[in-house]
Amino acid sequence: MHAANEKLTSIQKKIIVEILRLHRHKRPLNISAIRQHNPKLLLDVYRIKPFWGWKQALQSAGLDYSSIKITLPEYVTCLLCNRRFSTLAKHLRYFHQISPQAYAADYKVADLCSPAYSALKTRPKNTALPHWEPNWTPEYLLDRIYELHVRGISVNPVNISKNDNACYRWAHRYFGNWNVVLRAIGVDPQTVRQRPRGRRWTRQAVLHAIKERHAKGYLINSKAIVDYDRGLASAATKLFRSYDNILRTLCLDPRKVRLTPMRLHRYKTKDDVINAICKRRLEGKPIYLTALTHGSARNGELFSKAICLFGTWKAAIEASGFNYDKIRIMPNQAPKMRRSKPPTKTAEETLEMLRRRHESGVPMTALAASKGIHADHSLRHYAIKHFGSWLKALQAAEINYAPHIPSRLRYPTMDSVIQAIKTREKTGRSLTSRGIRLGPHRDSTLYKTGLNIFGSWMAALEAAGSNCGRYAGEDHQEPRKRHLKCYADGMSQNCP
Ligand SMILES: [Zn+2]
Repeated sequence: MHAANEKLTSIQKKIIVEILRLHRHKRPLNISAIRQHNPKLLLDVYRIKPFWGWKQALQSAGLDYSSIKITLPEYVTCLLCNRRFSTLAKHLRYFHQISPQAYAADYKVADLCSPAYSALKTRPKNTALPHWEPNWTPEYLLDRIYELHVRGISVNPVNISKNDNACYRWAHRYFGNWNVVLRAIGVDPQTVRQRPRGRRWTRQAVLHAIKERHAKGYLINSKAIVDYDRGLASAATKLFRSYDNILRTLCLDPRKVRLTPMRLHRYKTKDDVINAICKRRLEGKPIYLTALTHGSARNGELFSKAICLFGTWKAAIEASGFNYDKIRIMPNQAPKMRRSKPPTKTAEETLEMLRRRHESGVPMTALAASKGIHADHSLRHYAIKHFGSWLKALQAAEINYAPHIPSRLRYPTMDSVIQAIKTREKTGRSLTSRGIRLGPHRDSTLYKTGLNIFGSWMAALEAAGSNCGRYAGEDHQEPRKRHLKCYADGMSQNCP
């Protein structure tokens, strides 16, 4: 540890001990991995005031990003149904009938794609500061802005949006407001503001200013006001809810002031939507969901109005008298979106993917990889291509396959056979090889499994600690008894 660590509080020292412990155990230490496996640790780090952050915590522990292990979770959980996917957009559209935007608005903290997927999409840009995390997280965002601040780069929103636009956009996505971000890293927003705060507008002052400009013969449409004074324009819409309201208050006709005619809303009521859907059908245009949102016959206005009025596209279709299941197109029939060919995976990358899948707790059977919600066709393809079979790929990745096979056997393990023998003994049921195969309480599965696992039934009884001599004796006696019985029968038959 460094000499600077003497100034650390006891909580910070505890955190460092925990980080070093994880590092010793070769655990990944990037933010997304910690979010998944040790969320509390991350929370503790970001609770510390003044701002500390994950990057500084690692530095205090004597680690830096080049020396830590980095893994990215491959799956993101849908908060509506708790299933896991690499991206949610398609699932939300087809399964829950909602748009990703509506989902993101409902669940502010939820991600729409897995960290591994978003890392693929995040392309390194020429920014003032190179990235050290592979994907965006709220924690990384704070670390990054703090680092910029420490390096003396101005963190006022104008500068950041110009020089590190992705950072600026993610700040709005995660925190909603730039000032919230600045306060989180302990920077007073007032100190980074470039311009002094503008004058405070009242309703009267806004009306007066616009009236004055009108009297002087200037244009007073909303665009002209924005160009003249941005503060006045934003105060105007805030105080009067819409720009047209101001014009009406000034006894002006908004239609005459406006330079571009207002776009007419084609669909206002439920009937409009139903009529439009029927019209599409008569024109021979498709009315399944993706046809409305993508492709040449799309109609975003109709779609969003239908969602607004009916809740789901399915409800709108059914209100129009169509059977949704018949008009629906299955995902594999949907129009192919233009997509670049995914890069081919090497054997080593395939093994890494298998390990990550195993770590995230997804079933590892060949069936699970090829069918159902956990299917991963690309992974399966490369596993078979490089290793010959799924099983061999798992062996190469040193993943213990056995626990993932759901056993349908009644006695899958040695212990279960021993347990069954003990239970039979306790309840007084026959344990002779004959009794177990043919007796009234027969259990030929147990017998066969015992033979398979132990080689002989005697060995199975011995392993279960049963008094095998007793049963062995009975075993030998039994055929003799049968002979005696036959004799007796024969004798009784022969004797009149
Ligand atoms: Zn879901």
